[in-house]
This record gives sequence, structure tokens and C-alpha cells, in this order.
Amino acid sequence: MSPSSLQTTTLQALSTAAAVVYTTAVTLDSTTAVVSSFAGNVSELVADSDNLVRLPQASGIAALVADSATGDAKKPQLISALVGAKDLISLIPTLRGLARQRSPVLVLHVPVSSASDVSDVLAVRDSGCAILRSTTQQGAVDYALAASIAAQRLGTPFVHCFPAGAADSIELQGYAAGSTQEAVRAYLQGEKPPSSEAVHDVVSQALAMVVGEAREAVSYFGAADAQVVYVTFGDVVSRAAVGAVAGVGVVQISLARPPSAEALGQAVPASAARVVALEHVRRAAAGWGPLFFDLALVPWEHRPILLNGVSSSAGLDALTAEQLEAITAHVLTLASPTHFDAAAVAGIPEDAAAPAPGEDAPSEAAAVGAYGQLLRDVFGSRLRVANACESRSIWGNGGRAESTPEFGFGRLAAAAQERTRLAAAVTAVLRDVSVPLSRELHAALAAWLGARNDPSVASASAAAQIGELLKAEAASSPALGDVLGLRAHLAAQSDWLVGGDAWAYDVGGSGVHHVLSSGLNINMLVVDTAADPAAVQRGGARKKDVGLYAMNYGSAYVASVAVYASYAQVLQALAEADAFPGPAVVVAYLPRAASPIAVLQQSKRAVDEGAWPLYRWDPRHEPGPFQLDSEKLRRELADFLKRDSALAAVARATPRLGAAIAPASVEARAGDRLARKARGDVDALVSGLAAGGPPLLVLYASDGGSGEEAARRLARSARRRGMAVRCMGMDEYDFEELAYERTLAIAVSTAGQGEIPTAGREFLKALLATAANLSETAFAVFGLGDSHYWPRPEDAVFYNKPARDLDRRLAELGARRIAGPGLGDDQDADGWEAAFGAFESQLWGALNLDVVSSAADEPEEPPARTDEENKAISNFLRGTIAHAIADSSTGAVDEWDGKLLKFHGTYMQDDRDVRAGRLARGEEKAFSFMIRVRLPAGVATPAQWLAMDALAAEHGNQTMKITTRQTFQLHGVLKRNLRETMRGINRGLMDTIAACGDVNRNVVASANPLQAHLQPEVARLAADISTHLLPATSAYHEIWLADEQVAGSAEQTSPTADYEPLYGPAYLPRKYKIAIAIPPENDVDVFAYDLGYIAILDDAQETILGYNIVIGGGMGMTHNNKATYPRLATCLGYVPKDRAVVVSEKVMLVQRDHGDRSNRKHARLKYTVDDHGMHWWREQVEARLGFSFEPARPYAFTRNGDRYGWTKSTPGLNNFTMFVQNGRVADLPGSPLKTALADVARKHTGNFRLTCNGHLIVADVKDEDVESITRLLASHRLDNLDYSALRLHSMACVALPTCALAMAESERYLPRLIDLLDQVIDQAGLRSDAIVIRMTGCPNGCARPYNAEIAFVGKAPGAYNLYLGGSHNGDRLSKIYRETVTEDQILDALTPIIKQYAIERQEAERFGDFVIRKGIVKATREGKDFHDV
Ligand code: SF4
Repeated sequence: MSPSSLQTTTLQALSTAAAVVYTTAVTLDSTTAVVSSFAGNVSELVADSDNLVRLPQASGIAALVADSATGDAKKPQLISALVGAKDLISLIPTLRGLARQRSPVLVLHVPVSSASDVSDVLAVRDSGCAILRSTTQQGAVDYALAASIAAQRLGTPFVHCFPAGAADSIELQGYAAGSTQEAVRAYLQGEKPPSSEAVHDVVSQALAMVVGEAREAVSYFGAADAQVVYVTFGDVVSRAAVGAVAGVGVVQISLARPPSAEALGQAVPASAARVVALEHVRRAAAGWGPLFFDLALVPWEHRPILLNGVSSSAGLDALTAEQLEAITAHVLTLASPTHFDAAAVAGIPEDAAAPAPGEDAPSEAAAVGAYGQLLRDVFGSRLRVANACESRSIWGNGGRAESTPEFGFGRLAAAAQERTRLAAAVTAVLRDVSVPLSRELHAALAAWLGARNDPSVASASAAAQIGELLKAEAASSPALGDVLGLRAHLAAQSDWLVGGDAWAYDVGGSGVHHVLSSGLNINMLVVDTAADPAAVQRGGARKKDVGLYAMNYGSAYVASVAVYASYAQVLQALAEADAFPGPAVVVAYLPRAASPIAVLQQSKRAVDEGAWPLYRWDPRHEPGPFQLDSEKLRRELADFLKRDSALAAVARATPRLGAAIAPASVEARAGDRLARKARGDVDALVSGLAAGGPPLLVLYASDGGSGEEAARRLARSARRRGMAVRCMGMDEYDFEELAYERTLAIAVSTAGQGEIPTAGREFLKALLATAANLSETAFAVFGLGDSHYWPRPEDAVFYNKPARDLDRRLAELGARRIAGPGLGDDQDADGWEAAFGAFESQLWGALNLDVVSSAADEPEEPPARTDEENKAISNFLRGTIAHAIADSSTGAVDEWDGKLLKFHGTYMQDDRDVRAGRLARGEEKAFSFMIRVRLPAGVATPAQWLAMDALAAEHGNQTMKITTRQTFQLHGVLKRNLRETMRGINRGLMDTIAACGDVNRNVVASANPLQAHLQPEVARLAADISTHLLPATSAYHEIWLADEQVAGSAEQTSPTADYEPLYGPAYLPRKYKIAIAIPPENDVDVFAYDLGYIAILDDAQETILGYNIVIGGGMGMTHNNKATYPRLATCLGYVPKDRAVVVSEKVMLVQRDHGDRSNRKHARLKYTVDDHGMHWWREQVEARLGFSFEPARPYAFTRNGDRYGWTKSTPGLNNFTMFVQNGRVADLPGSPLKTALADVARKHTGNFRLTCNGHLIVADVKDEDVESITRLLASHRLDNLDYSALRLHSMACVALPTCALAMAESERYLPRLIDLLDQVIDQAGLRSDAIVIRMTGCPNGCARPYNAEIAFVGKAPGAYNLYLGGSHNGDRLSKIYRETVTEDQILDALTPIIKQYAIERQEAERFGDFVIRKGIVKATREGKDFHDV
């Protein structure tokens, strides 16, 4: 078809749409896509156009665009599509993508049914496309062509809306002639306009070219001195009507996007006192239309009163003079910016279906309503909002059950299940050839099954059609009954829970957590109406960033939107959330503000300044799931990335700059950066932008926590001085931004061989590699180290090395040192804090902030507490634990709750194997909890064993540890499972009360099976002491066991507060440990405890008479701090056994009252003993007892290991002691120990005894069961004792990966070291000679290394201090033999000694005694000479 024949064809029955299609397809030689309902009539008219593509759905346009964007010159450069207004929303992603690329250009022609209603078109106003409007049928053809010309000229997508409907005739003007095509071609090949600001000019030029006369994108008609000016998008008010009303004018906009505030301002006459945006807003988000907001952004010289004359009814487009006059009269009565219902004022009948306009300032419910309207618009009948979202309850004020998120979630989860059942039923029917189905129903069901989640396939109409077929055929085919019964679930719904920002304060209770963890395809819309979106506190509750929280899950779609900042982005996010096949969370901003202008301004400010960043996070997206949509922030990011590229270029030119800025690394780090952005950098940026005062960045790297403590102290101090502070771990910081920091303070600990702690490695690496110019940055570094850590003078270089390295490198890069380097030294009496004060003074002095202003005297954070204060204010161990464990936004608890949790028997830990990687990715550490059971004397029934076994499998890391203190320990319990695990332990008739903390711990007792006949008595004593010294607080039951608080309260002053008769509110200065031994076996290491009972037997060794009481033992110390040392307990005297329990109390009370509460490193009872002496202690305890100790009675210990194999000492009962390497009960390849022991527990009818050396006794096996148990043990190879005596006497603490204090491996490494030492032992012929050998990962001494014959104490990864000379029976401490030795050095050191021992030992001489006799080490006589070599 040629252009000239257009007239003859179209004049008869040409629709405007056909003209539009024809015009753009033929005149400009473009590809034209025609979508869905238009395809029929239009394609008939232009069927011979090669360039016409018929698409069944609008989504096909995206594919067409993608196909044309290949750079192939043969592909069309212009795609001109005819789509329905409702299709626009689904095209937003395509438009947004095209707005950033120039080819191909897309022009969407959209017929609108009402001349005034362009709601659907304006929905895409923020998508980056230009929006042009024609209001007549002739204009539609003119503008179609003009839009296509302008789009190609500018490389910008256009949306052109035109009035739908048939046309009798259209005057085709000059452009149909070839001359226009020539002119257009010349124009398009001419010099491109310089920037997007030229859009208005280009559109005007294009229109002039098409219609032969200039037309402005914004024009004015009416009175030159108009008092009232109406602003319309398109030809809404007729010139005739305007001419008939005095003092009225109209600004008519034909190009709505990009908006031209300048053109708008110029078009309105200065005489205007009222400017009215007159618009049809069917989608009445809070009642304000888009035109109004464009007006609000005009920089008025003489600001008129802005009004929004909205109408949700049709009819504004045909205003008569009378109606216009009525509106004008009304407008003149309005004296402040507001909206009014123009249709109502004009007397236009109300459209029953139209929603009423919203309120002035959106209330919370109105805010949800506004977004709810969007949901309705986007999803129409597919929308299913499961909770009563307008209810007050979602704002945290209580309300109907059906408005709660749990209710909604339950509904949706149930619906999902029903739909799954429906799919199963359909599958069954289709597979069953015996079910008679009509061909039509079979095809419909098959199509449904294949695309049941595609709303275009599983649509409401398709569902209705299938429903009808089912009803018709079910009678003859009963097998269809299930499908018929579930037909209500045929249609694919868009499922939503809608709530307010109250949910952000309670992500656990709000359903956010439930939805995310369910994995179901449920969407959440959380509307934040806070005036300040960055505010994080409300009524004492902490607001969570729901978006970040959701992103942490890693598998949910997340978006942050703001309707008045980017309408199109909201629609895009809603559509993407709906399409995402899993949970989706959209957090939406709509601030409460006094006026609509304030709403708009606040929205824009929050978005532009980053307080409310717009983003979308889709975990499926490659290369990164995070897309920042905030235009302004994106520009800043682009600038930043430009710098990154420049840096990469430098790196390529200068290879020595290394990996930190090499291209590959840049990519890798870009990934990290995205992750960090998603998790927190935007927040950090926001807080940096939002906070006042000079900026300070405080970074830290610390393994033990001291470096972080120093950093946080600096941060608090700086805030009090009015600085805007960010404080974070070094590797959490985005290194690329370093050059833009003004002031940087670093606190860094020293690890290992002078290394930087793990969490600072990447930062240091990058700093060493970079060539960045840091001349704009002032810095100060404070280090924490130990000047005596390395004994050799040549190793002095390692002291505070990371701090000195950082300080030197920062200076080399041009940064200006303003303080330090400060060098904190553990050897100082006050530790690192001694140097910290001077460092701080220097820093604040350099910043002229050494005087804190009086206004800043009030600290903005609560001052750090001491441990003593923390206990005292905890309300008897409650603290905020209940709140902390219910907070599902983090896997951690804070420091202070963490300390209190120990009293409840649990420690927070993190997996240190993955710590560095997680920090590098900006993730939270892999926090979990260790739980320790209170198990006096280590006696457990088989049922209790099975209970622990099940809990380890369900909530722990699939293993159990038999600890060196005779109890069970679970590791890897996530916070969310903590309460359930505690309850499980209690269901097993055990508890964890006081298993850790500054209280009496688990009481241990001899498990020597050779004295099994005495064990019930010592086990009972252990239980009695444990019960007697239990904390009295009801906090444990309240927090872990009760369904709700049953006693006490969060208020210390509550009349229901607990009372601790023994401990008082501050409990003990430190832990208190008790052991009971039965000579001649010292299997409990009785001298290693604060209080020890040594049983004194009658002459027949059959009965316990009483106990020698020893006090002041303890293992813990700090490397190279001679003020700390291990100590063995010393004897107070003897008491008869009926007085044993009371002794435990009175010794504890002396320690409670006289222990050192000012220094936790000096707070153990052993130091109180050495400080006051035994005489003083005896007096103190006797005074409280009311009787005197008798002189100690004789006894003798011979050994301190376990007795393996079968033993018997009680008639009729037998015991089998098995070797459990380092107490770890786990299923390992080829060694399923955990499974095997569970099997034994299921069959064993006696007890289990856990030993203090981490092994296990299958105890109290009846004579008649010995054979079956022997077979059972053999079948699981649990009877294997074929190990060297060295291994059988080995013990290691947990250490890495879970212990936060570990400096080196222990449990995971000792078996390997023993493998190596076994070779030496075998060569020396000592395989059967027991030598007690122990290892710990740090000097705290959990595996009692200092009374072993050979011991290794971790100092750094792979490096240990080697101790020798402890006694074989545990009554003498060892002495250091070698410092900081590695595996090779250990073997070099021990091999000759072991060989020498084999040759030169005396009869029955133990290894520990031998090394002393030979002078290899000096004997340690008491704790105070432990460090004397
Ligand atoms: S000795 Fe140290 S490393 Fe080992 S478990 Fe105890 S605190 Fe942790």
C-alpha cells in the first residue's frame, strides 16, 4: 500500500488506530507492532505492510526490542507499537531500559477511551520516556508521526496517547506526500541535539514538519490577565468555554514528559492568583494527581495558590461554560493548596465505580489505601490482599484478627496448599486414560497445568471457562470431583499482605519473617509513613530496615519504592514482585505531612538524599541482584564507578599496583560492593549524609574484641563532640571510598605473628596495593598489642605491627597523621587503656575538639557498663534477653545480653571458619549458640542421652561434646532455635541453669568405675551442692520455659522482683567451680577448681567418712601477663561428710564478699586466696560455718586419667569406659559414633557417666546384659581401645571454629599431632606408657593443660607454647619449655626428650617427673612461680 492510497482506503471506515499504525509503519519505514485486540481490524487495513508484526501480548514488545538491539543494521531502528493503556505497566521495565540506550527507539501509541482520563498513560511518567498527547483524531496521526520523528532524533522512547474511536474521515495533510519523508530523513541525519533538554524543541520541530506550522508543547489561551488558570494535559477545556468565562485562562500541555517547569511557569500569566491542575485521576493516590506535582515544582516568582481539581468521574473533558464558571467560583473561595472534586463542583454525575479522592495529608490507613489502589490498578481482579489492610491493627494499635499478618499469611499459605493439591488432581486426571475427558477440557487442563502460574494463561476468564467445562463433564466423570472441588484455585492470583511501618518494629510478629522463611509465592507491601524514614526508635522499640532484613534471606525479591518520587518504579516493583516465584517484600514510602506539597517535597528529599533509597533486589539477576533506582544516588554511583575504572586503568599500566586494584579484583570487589550496598552501604551513606557535624570514619579489626571496644569508645567520644561518625569493621568498609574520607581513625589489634586480625586483612592488602592519593585525609591509628608476647629480642618487630604498618602506609599515600600511632600494651598495669587516653587527647586536640561543649555533655549513647553493673541492673539475669531472642532481624544478641545468657547456660559464638568471607561480603557473622547442660557428676540416663542426641541433630551442628567438666555441650544452635532447644533439654529432665556465668557451675565428681560402689554417694553430693547453690531467680523459667512472663518484670523496681539469698543482685565476681574426687584416682583433677572435695575413706576403702577441702584452684591466665597464672588448690582441712554441702556455700560467700570485682583478670577465687592467705581464709570460712575444720587427713592420688574397658566394683553391675577422642560425639565418614551411641542408648538399661576427660562410661550394666552390650559395642566398634596410651590420655578443648577466644586450633588439631608423636612413641617403645597430654586453643585452659605432663597452649594460628612437667596425678603444675612453636618445632623439641625418657627413666618414673629430674624444666611449686623459668 502506498501513502497516496491511504485516503481512499481509510476514508470509509478507518479507525484512528489504523491511521497511527499505517502512518508510522509506512511513512517512516519502521517496524510496527500491533498488540492483541488491535491486531484484527488494524492488520486488515495494513496487511500488505512487510513491517507489520502482530503480537498476542504486549510483553512481546520487549523481545522485539531485544532482537533489534543487536547492532544489526538490517534490524529496524524504530519500533512503533500500538498497545492498550493497561499494557503500559507491564512495559515499564522495557521503557526504563530503553531510556538508557539509543537504539532501537520505541514509540508506543496508546488509545485512551476518555478524552480526559490519561491515568494509565501517566502511570509510566517516571520510566524515562517522553509522553505526548493528541486530543483529536487528526491530531493523533500528526502526533504519531511527530513522536516517531522526535524519538529517532533523540534516541528516547515515546508514549503517544490519542483518543480512541472510529473516524469518519481524517484530513491527511502534506506529510503523506514524499516531500515530508525527504524532510524527515534530512532532519534525522542532521546534527543531534546536545542533550535531553532539547526534547521540547525537537517535538515542536517535528510537529512543525508534519503539520506545517509551529506548535508548542506547552501553550496558553484565554484572558491575558486571568485570575484563574487551569492547567490541563491535552485539549480538555474548549476555547469556547474559556472565552465565555471572565478572568479565566488555560495552559494546555501536549508534552507531559519530560516536564518543563520553566515552560509551565512562563505560560501562566503573572496575574494568576489561582492555578488549578485540572485532571482526571482515576488512580487517586491520596487524591493528588501528577499534574499538580509538576506545578508544585515550578519555581514561581509570585507564587499563586495551587489547587488540584481532580475528578475520578469521566466528564471533565466536556466542560461547558457554565460548569467552568461554577468551578471558577469555587476555586476563588479556596485560599490554600488543596484538592477538590471538580466533577462534583461542576455538577457532573458521579461515577459509581470511581473511588473517592483521598484526604489532604495521607493518614497511615490512607497511605495503605493509596498503595492499595495501585495494587488494584496493577493486578485488577487477580489481586488478593489477605489481611484487612486498612485496619488499625496493622499500625500496631490492635484490631480484628483477620487484619493480623498471621491471619493473612495463614490464608495465603492455605491457598497455596490448595493450589498444589489442585495441580496434583489435574495431573492425576490427565494421566489417567480411563477418565473420559472432552478434547476441549483436556486441552484446557493441560494448558493450565503447564502454565498455571502465568496470569495470562491462568486468567480469571480461562478459569471460568474450565470451571464450566468441569461442571458439564463431572457428572459423567466422577474422577473430576477433586478438580471440580478445587476449581476456585484455577486462576493465578497475585497474593499480598499489606501493612504499615509498625511492622518494621516487629519483623518477627509482623509476618515478614514468616513470609520470607516460608518460601511461598507471597508478596508483602510495607508502607512507611514516618516523617523521617531514617528514625530508628519508637517507644523504645528499634525499627528494622525491612528491606535489608529481607535481602539477608538471599532468596526473596525486595524493592524500596516511593510513589511520589517515582511512580513508574513503584509499578515496576509491584509487577516484578508479583512475577517473582517466591516471597517478595516491597517497602513503600509515603510520608505523613501537613500538605500535599510537603508530601511531595519530603518524598523527593528523602529519595534524593538517600534517606529512602529506591532500589530493587532480585536474587536471580546477573551479575548483581541489586539495582539502585534513585536517579541522584545512581549518578553519584556512576561517578564513583568512573573513578573505579580510572583506578583500574592505572593498575593495568602499573602492574606492581597489584591485585587490590587489578581489573579482575575490581570485578570481584564490585560484587562485594553490591552485596554491601544491599546490606548497609546505602544506609551508611544515608546516615553520613543525614548526620551533622564533621565526618569521622572509625575502623577496627580485632579478634578478641578489644580493638572493637577501643573503636567504639572513640566513636562515642566523637559523637559527644558533635562529629558525624561511622564506625565499622575494616573489611566491612568499601575501600574504594577511602580517598574521600576526611578524617579516619583506626583501632587495630595484633594477631598471631604480628599479623592483622582476620577481619582487617582485605583492607590492609588493598592499602598496601593502592596508589590512591590520600592527601585529603587526616588519620590516626591506635594499636593493641603485647610487648612481651614474643620472647626473642629479634621478634620485637611484631609488637603492634599492624598498627605501625597501617600508620606508615597511610602516611606514604599522603594522608596527614594527626595523632599516634598509639601503642596499647597488654603488659601495662591498665592494659591497652593506659596508652589510649593519651592517644585520644592527641586526636581530639588535633581536631580542636578537646573540649566537649556543654551541650554535648549528655552522651547520646548510654555509657559502657562494667560486667558488675550489667549483672546488678539485669533484674536477676533477665536483661533484655527475652526481647533479644525474639528479634529475628539478627542472629546475634548484644554484648550485655550475651554476658547474661551465660548464666542461663549458653554462649553466643560465630563460625570463625567462615567469618572472613562473610564479613567480606558484608554479611553478618555466622552467629550461633553453644548450650551447656547442668549435669551434676555427669550422670545421664539413656533417655537423656537420646534427648540430647535428637536436639543436636535437630537444632545443633549434628554433634555433641562431652566436655572436660563432665557434661553435654551443643554447638551451632541458631538463635531462633535457642528457646526450643532449652525446652527440649528441660523435657529431658535436665537444665542449663548456671552452666556458665559468675555462679556455681556444674559440679563434677569422680567417675572412676573401679569405685563405682562409692559413686552414687558422690553423685548425690554433687547434685545436692549444685541444687543448694542454684541461683534463685525465676528468670530462667520465665525466659525459656514459660509461654509468657510468669514472674518478675523488666523493671528492677517491680514489687515482684526476685531475690537471691546467696548471690545477691551482682552474683559472684567470677565463676565458681567445684569437683569431688575419690582417691586414689584424681580423674577429676580436683586441684584445678575453686573448691575441691577429696573423699576420705575408711580403712576398708568401702565407705566415705568425710572430705579434705581444698580451695583456690584454677587454670586460666593471659599469655605473658605474670599477674595471671594457673594455680592448684590448697587445703583448708577436713570436714565430716554431713557438713560437706554447707562448706560449699560458706566458701562461696567469702569469695562473693572479698573477690576482686574491679578486675576480672584477678577475680577468681585463686587470687583471693593468694591475696589473703590460707590462714585468713580458714578464719573467714570457719566464722561463717560456726565450726572449725579438722586437720587434713592422709590420702594419695596415683593418676588422673580414665580407666578404659570393662570394670566392676559393685556386685551385679559392670561398666565399660570407651575412648571418645576429645569428647566429640559425631558421625564421621567410617566412624558413625553418634549413631552408634544412640543405638547403645536405645538398648542400654543402666546409666551413662560422662568423665572429666571427655570420655564415656556405659555404666551400671547388669551381669546378665554384659554379653549383649559387649556384642553391641563390638558391632559398632565402640570397644576399640587399641590406641597408644598417649592418645588415651589426651584431651583438647573445643577452640576453633566456634570458640571466640581461640588463638589456635585444638580439638581439630591434637589428633593429628598425636599421630605424629605416636611415631616417636612407637620408636621409643612407649606405646603402653601413659603420658598425660593436653591442648587448648588459648591460655584460658578449659582442657586443664597446666597440670598435664605435656601441654600445648595456642598462641597464634599454628603456634603454641609448649609446657612440660605437670604430674601424672594432677597435683603439680607444668612449666613453659618452648614459646610459640610450630608443628615441626614441637616434634624437634619433644622427640629427643621422649627418647631420652624411654632410655633413662627410673622404675615407674612418670614423664612429668622425669623432665624435672633431668632439669629439662624446673618444677612449679605453686601458681605464683608458674612463670619463673
Ligand atoms: S581454652 Fe580457650 S580456646 Fe579452648 S575452649 Fe577454652 S576459651 Fe576456647
